[in-house]
Amino acid sequence: MISENGMSEIQSGQATDAIRHADILIVGGGLSGTMLAAQLLRLPGRRSVLVIEPRAELGRGEAYSAVELGHTLNGNAARMSVDPDNADDLTQWLTDYIAAGGWPESDEQHVPISELFPPRGIFGLYVQQRLAQAQAVGALNGSTVEHVRAEVVDLQTDDDSVRLTLSDGQRLQGDFAVLATGMFPAARTPQTESSGLNAAALDPWDVAAMQQLDPQSTVLIIGSGLTMVDAVVSLEQAGHRGPIEVFSRHGLLPHVRRQPPAWADFLAEDHSIRTPRQLVRELRRHCRDAIAQGIDWQAPLDTVRAHIARLWSQATDVQRRQFVRHVRPWWESHHHRSPPLSAELVARLHGEGRLRIQAASFKGLEPSVNGEVSIRIRRRGEAQTTVVSGAALINSSGIEYDWRRVARPLPQRLLAHGLIKPGHLALGIAAEVDGAVLDADGRAASRLFAMGPPLRGMWWESTAVTDVASQAKALAVRVATSLTL
Ligand SMILES: Cc1cc2nc3c(=O)[nH]c(=O)nc-3n(C[C@H](O)[C@H](O)[C@H](O)COP(=O)(O)OP(=O)(O)OC[C@H]3O[C@@H](n4cnc5c(N)ncnc54)[C@H](O)[C@@H]3O)c2cc1C
Repeated sequence: MISENGMSEIQSGQATDAIRHADILIVGGGLSGTMLAAQLLRLPGRRSVLVIEPRAELGRGEAYSAVELGHTLNGNAARMSVDPDNADDLTQWLTDYIAAGGWPESDEQHVPISELFPPRGIFGLYVQQRLAQAQAVGALNGSTVEHVRAEVVDLQTDDDSVRLTLSDGQRLQGDFAVLATGMFPAARTPQTESSGLNAAALDPWDVAAMQQLDPQSTVLIIGSGLTMVDAVVSLEQAGHRGPIEVFSRHGLLPHVRRQPPAWADFLAEDHSIRTPRQLVRELRRHCRDAIAQGIDWQAPLDTVRAHIARLWSQATDVQRRQFVRHVRPWWESHHHRSPPLSAELVARLHGEGRLRIQAASFKGLEPSVNGEVSIRIRRRGEAQTTVVSGAALINSSGIEYDWRRVARPLPQRLLAHGLIKPGHLALGIAAEVDGAVLDADGRAASRLFAMGPPLRGMWWESTAVTDVASQAKALAVRVATSLTL
């Protein structure tokens, strides 16, 4: 069968006893798995790749399955290329796409195409088209990529191969496998499931569900990061005009992303900065200097991004804990910034008093009264807890990086087989620098690799488009080289 993106696709439900073989099995077909497949196709040599992904289309995952124009990338086009060798790749693609009549609304923004923040759904299309181009290149060498539409529920390795069991009973065998399973939402973990939060909460991106709400009703949102910003955009789009109460531990809103000028890369020049405390002190100094010169404080901040992986991987666990405890909330709100149009909306609602943000931690769900959702919170600095109620609840409290708490079959089985071990601070899974996964005894696998968000513990920032794109390129070379040995 040919899917919407033109890929040949094996439908779930076609269980056979035969084991299919491919050179490389990629578990997960979001941005990471799709970019890895594209990079493998572009390398010289002939190889077969199967991407196992339950979603109907490759290249989208949760992030780029968005259908609303208001759910945009959090960076402008010039920052979101999937080609590590061409920073203008997305801008060039977008220029052609807009010229061909795509995204006509972009005209209203009156900025150069490189400064547009594309809707994430359109970005997903870009990723798919880059895969299709790579397929055409790979076909010249006889290389293939197929989308197998199922969830991988088990994985075993031996000296010669990796074997996968899929949710529909199919079995696949490969010379190598790559875990590109992305991020697991916190709400799907057993802890929050048992509190009933998942069942009670609205999907932050489900505009149709929000249209069912009384427009004047109160909506409660847990978490104040970029998912909250998306949820506010969804509510606005759905016609909601009532109060929005946001609760988050530190009560910090993401800053708006601007286009700051270049700033000297002080971390490249000074390798004595190693600890979180030194980093924050030095960064604050540079931000103060920038402001004193009338330059945006975002300029020095943006130079840090390129060094985070090095600083994190060199740090001790004590320093990493310090960073997570003391710097993370600040890092999240200053570094993971909001696209300007969404930020404008949040600022407007905040200014009008319709959106309130409170520093409070979520303590649990309370029984529903009169059809309302009630939650127990504890406001910062208060000893007692309080119950607040609204017509609906949106959980935007983030990602579960600890695979021991992810209630999906594959993470649980990989742990039970001793094929993986938690990464630093139990963030994702442990691996070598080249992505080779470490087993429970700390030995590097020869046939099992990981990329993207599962390597959070190793790199801290291992999620964004540019992280994933450069990892895909390096890992493709690594795996292709092993195949030829
Ligand atoms: C809502 C949202 C918005 C974002 N916006 C931005 C942005 O603007 N800019 C930016 O740089 N980054 C953004 N990100 C970060 C984003 O996660 C990455 O850009 C990118 O999506 C990571 O790709 P991935 O393939 O590793 O993960 P995912 O996109 O999560 O894809 C992983 C895929 O693996 C599949 N999978 C999981 N387990 C299995 C299994 N056992 N078997 C088979 N398949 C499996 C899932 O179905 C999923 O499709 C955003 C993330 C989210 C959630």
